[in-house]
Amino acid sequence: MAIYLDYNATTPINSDVLECMIDVYKNNYGNANSRTHDFGANANKIVANSRKKVADLLNVKSDEVFFTSGATESNNIAIQGLIKYGKANNKKHIITSSIEHHSVLHTMKHLEEEGFSVDYVNPQSSGRIDYKEVLSLVREDTLLVSIMHVNNETGIIQPVKEIGEGLKDSNVFFHIDATQSAGKLVKEIQELSYDMLSLSAHKFSGPQGIGVLVLRKKRYTLPPVKGIMFGGEQEHKIRPGTLPVALIAGIGKAAEIALENFSEEMNSAIEIKKIVMNLINESGLKYRINGCEDYCIPTTINLCLEGVSSEALMVATKQYCGISNGSACTSQSYAPSFVLKAMGIPEDLINNSIRLSWGPNTDISELKEMLFNLLEIAKGLVF
Ligand code: PMP
Repeated sequence: MAIYLDYNATTPINSDVLECMIDVYKNNYGNANSRTHDFGANANKIVANSRKKVADLLNVKSDEVFFTSGATESNNIAIQGLIKYGKANNKKHIITSSIEHHSVLHTMKHLEEEGFSVDYVNPQSSGRIDYKEVLSLVREDTLLVSIMHVNNETGIIQPVKEIGEGLKDSNVFFHIDATQSAGKLVKEIQELSYDMLSLSAHKFSGPQGIGVLVLRKKRYTLPPVKGIMFGGEQEHKIRPGTLPVALIAGIGKAAEIALENFSEEMNSAIEIKKIVMNLINESGLKYRINGCEDYCIPTTINLCLEGVSSEALMVATKQYCGISNGSACTSQSYAPSFVLKAMGIPEDLINNSIRLSWGPNTDISELKEMLFNLLEIAKGLVF
């Protein structure tokens, strides 16, 4: 079987997380909002417990954690949820980057249709956006700055720390899409200054279909974000609907495990990256890394194997490695990566670019064998 090297798309679920969820499905099937019996009360306890575990991972308060179906929904609520406030207060300017995930970019397009004006900051060739440029764009009527922590395609860490510091004393809301850093850059996230933060459990060994929107309180008050769906009163109406208790137990368990193991896991990711780079160097293939390595998360590498079509390589090496050449959300289309394009990388090099990403389950001896096989095939594909 092929080795899975596409952790940025999704991760295999941790077996303790799965067991914890199965136990909830079997034994705690109550509705967490039923107040008339113990089935509801027990489910409610599980939700409260998980909320605390997620809050501990992020170093926030439990009542700042809101469960959603995933980062796509969290990003939508964070941005669309401010429409009413922005219109009422004549604050209709937003700053974001051109390399955000589509759940941010397409939501921004919607806000433009609603009369908001949006500035899209381009990355430098390093893959990083310039925080000074972001801060220089802030105006009197700026409502929101939304910048991702780690780019899903390149793994490049964005200067959200500097942006957060720069906006700290302003009345501009700062949203961070931390989907690719949550559970990994744990200490860094704990120290960030922001108003809203999005994440998905399935990017750090949790289940698919559950995520979190963090809303930080300022002087005991939440940001003026409104839910984007109508329904019950769950999650303070930020995200109505029956709580998926087993999924919530799963994200809680994944958060607990991440908090315990992140340091060890990041060290092993650094070792894996060294092994990957050694194999690529030994192959003799001509390559270039997309984005500046100094800013890259240890779990990802995006590189161009010169003269090797990424599409041909992926088809020819499927039996060895599960890799990708961009975000899973856009992989249905063959258009060249908009992220690499924004970094100024020429189209022929983009067409030769692949993304490898790994995690705590990656077996080193299997990796060595399978990646060696992939690189041998790549040599035969050089055009
Ligand atoms: N933001 C980023 C940076 C992502 O990588 C992803 C998932 N690829 C999302 C948001 C959306 O997450 P989900 O698909 O779990 O809603």
